[in-house]
Amino acid sequence: MPFDFVRSPYALLQDMVGPTPYDGVLKEYEAWWEQEGRAISDAVDRAQTPWVRMFDTAGKRVDEILYPPDYRRMLKQGYRSGVLWRAFRDQTLLPSFLLLYLTSFYDCGLSCPYTVSLSTVLPLSKYGDAAIKERFLPNLLREDDAVWQGATWMTEIKGGSDLGANVETVAVPQGDAWQLTGDKYFASNAGAELAVAAARPKGAPAGVRGLALFLVPRWRRSGELNYTIRRLKDKIATRSVPTGEIELRDSEAYLLGSAEEGIYLILEVLNVSRISNSLGSVALAQRAIADALSFAESRVAFGRRIVEHPMLRTQFDERVRDLRAAFALAWEASRLLNEVWQERRPYSDRYHLFRLLAHLAKYWTAEFAVQTAKWCMEVHGGLGVLAEFRVERWLREAMILAIWEGTAHRQLLDGLEVMERKQAHHTLLQYLAPASGAPEVREIVEAIDAHLKLPIEERERTWEPIGTRFAKVTAEALLQKMPVQKTSAS
Ligand SMILES: Cc1cc2nc3c(=O)[nH]c(=O)nc-3n(C[C@H](O)[C@H](O)[C@H](O)COP(=O)(O)OP(=O)(O)OC[C@H]3O[C@@H](n4cnc5c(N)ncnc54)[C@H](O)[C@@H]3O)c2cc1C
Repeated sequence: MPFDFVRSPYALLQDMVGPTPYDGVLKEYEAWWEQEGRAISDAVDRAQTPWVRMFDTAGKRVDEILYPPDYRRMLKQGYRSGVLWRAFRDQTLLPSFLLLYLTSFYDCGLSCPYTVSLSTVLPLSKYGDAAIKERFLPNLLREDDAVWQGATWMTEIKGGSDLGANVETVAVPQGDAWQLTGDKYFASNAGAELAVAAARPKGAPAGVRGLALFLVPRWRRSGELNYTIRRLKDKIATRSVPTGEIELRDSEAYLLGSAEEGIYLILEVLNVSRISNSLGSVALAQRAIADALSFAESRVAFGRRIVEHPMLRTQFDERVRDLRAAFALAWEASRLLNEVWQERRPYSDRYHLFRLLAHLAKYWTAEFAVQTAKWCMEVHGGLGVLAEFRVERWLREAMILAIWEGTAHRQLLDGLEVMERKQAHHTLLQYLAPASGAPEVREIVEAIDAHLKLPIEERERTWEPIGTRFAKVTAEALLQKMPVQKTSAS
């Protein structure tokens, strides 16, 4: 088969990115997943929501999340392989991205703890003062199983898209630190040793400009719990990350950067998650195609294997081609993040280009993952809807990828905003100039210029089809730029 490489995430990375210094680690990590991780991941998904043990036998509040021991083994495997510490040892985020891709092929929910830990480490290392960094950073960069985990808690019950209107958590200065009080409604990696959280310093202005980013440890300096878990969400998927409701009550916290620039720090945190979500979506789509392929090679209908029927064969060809384009979009956005993540305001044009690609990638790859997971079910026929064969899991997982880290609507509109304010579509055009896909991008950039002149209501009302086409055309053009290995080009 010309697309045999879809069966292995490492093979796809080799094919699309070429050799990297991390090939040995990636191969070993993939082998672990094949031998042990797959079965653990299936069991965790089947077991559904874990429990929280809120009190110990002496009645002390402990909030322990009760996953089976195998879960911890699966979780620690990625940390040990270097999803966090390699980025700092080697001064590049690429090993994190590569390991996140591999993880998501097997369990995209598990990518969440790694992602939110990375999204905690990065602002801490960039904006934390010396004392905070010395106290916390080494714990997150440990290479052994005592490594700490991070989390990113912004969303509250009234809604996650409009943080400016809906974050009601208040921060009050207290000695050399702050105290936070409020409730976080969607808090993934509940139980993490450290979280970054959005809160409004008392007296700060309303809206997003009044928000700041704080570091919240799990334990107070006195050794008591610093936040409590009200309950865990009973989710349709991503069961390998506990998502909970978090209560902050005079919780000790440390301001990152300056309060006035808080919203920019919050957006920087979200950008990391969007990149990871994009890589995760592509990996999930690859997994769905791989499973569909294995099934189609063995299932027989009308006298031949279903993969040999012309219509299905064309669908496989097109899916694999779209997979490559989606990967190119996600990977280029990841590479740009690696280039610009240390930038501070005022950001460069390169940074705004990154933002545009991050929005397009988050939007388009998640849509592609949902469509591909649905198609994978269809290829399996009736067997695709039976939980025992696990195919339906990819659709459940994909639906979450499309919503968390910002919904499709928000990505489309935020992408539009960075083009209006920073002309990022023109920067993209220059960036793509030598690529053969550029003429189509040029045409759509002109259409966007005209679109941006519309009154705001009209602009948003009619943007979706243009935004969707823009994402697809950009993905295709970026594919032309990639050093794709010829062995598997279909
Ligand atoms: C499993 C899971 C885990 C999560 N983990 C975390 C976490 O760890 N930390 C965290 O901070 N958050 C987390 N979230 C929250 C997530 O980021 C939000 O769900 C997401 O940002 C959307 O917010 P919302 O659900 O409140 O929807 P809302 O903001 O209420 O939006 C509802 C709908 O309105 C649409 N909408 C909003 N504004 C516009 C507009 N201007 N134009 C058109 N449509 C619009 C949205 O796209 C959406 O379809 C998690 C969510 C899930 C499902």
